[in-house]
Amino acid sequence: MRKKESWKNSEQTMQNLYIIKLGGSVITEKEGNRFEAKEKALARIASEIKQAMEEKKFSLIAVHGAGPFGHTNVMEYGINNGVHTEKQKEGYEKTVKDCNFLNSRVVAALGKARIDAVAFDPNKIVIQDNKKIAEFETRQVGNALALGKVPVLFGQMVPDKSLNASVVSGDTIIAFLAKEFKPKKIFLGTDVAGIFTADPKKDSKAKRIPLIDKSNFEKIIEKVKGSSAIDVTGGMKGKLEKLGKMLQGTTAVIFDAGKEGNVYKALTGKKVEGTEVRL
Ligand code: ADP
Repeated sequence: MRKKESWKNSEQTMQNLYIIKLGGSVITEKEGNRFEAKEKALARIASEIKQAMEEKKFSLIAVHGAGPFGHTNVMEYGINNGVHTEKQKEGYEKTVKDCNFLNSRVVAALGKARIDAVAFDPNKIVIQDNKKIAEFETRQVGNALALGKVPVLFGQMVPDKSLNASVVSGDTIIAFLAKEFKPKKIFLGTDVAGIFTADPKKDSKAKRIPLIDKSNFEKIIEKVKGSSAIDVTGGMKGKLEKLGKMLQGTTAVIFDAGKEGNVYKALTGKKVEGTEVRL
């Protein structure tokens, strides 16, 4: 009897599941390349998530980027193609620790907003092989969801069968979780209002692309560049490529989570300026 109830609950949980990404550009000083969490933005986003969850019942997985805590360490220690030397091992350990530190700030902000957030360090549940996910132990993530908690995962360095260790980005984690948990919608919060015809930070004539679907995907992916900040995981182009591989019917919205009110609006289904991706 008990078993049946929890099964039912978890079915309901999965039917109302959203995944939200808090981009490294929104929650860290990625542009200034400083190892700092944007505490104010985090507090605001956390309270917007809480407000949305109270208003509209849904389950949520949160995934955040690493910003400089990941990218800058990886560049400085030269550990994007394997971890072999003592210096690289030192860099790997520092990166893992720094990404965990950032995650602790995110979880603390969510907790302060009375969101029952629980961290899942990808370093402990993901194993890659040559930079691709080989194993991802998601069972406890599902259990946490069924218990009404908000699992929080993040871009991190993880063990790698061929390279000793490699980077798994927040975007890659989202792609995997989307396949596994089939969310109703994916919200990708970044520091620009969607995907543009060119990098909007560099080109004032860049125009936002409101909708990307099968008819324009290939053409757009040729145009989109990586990140304007240090980014070892592909920036906006990487994001779009991952979306192309994973969406299979799920809608994703890319929007500016740095703008006050947008996270709340997106999660409650109100109109937000951004790019909708339907593939
Ligand atoms: P996050 O850290 O939030 O995941 P990224 O830094 O990976 O975000 O990607 C977002 C960045 O991609 C933006 O800050 C923007 O400067 C850059 N970018 C490059 N080309 C484009 C484009 N065509 N449209 C939108 N953003 C773009």
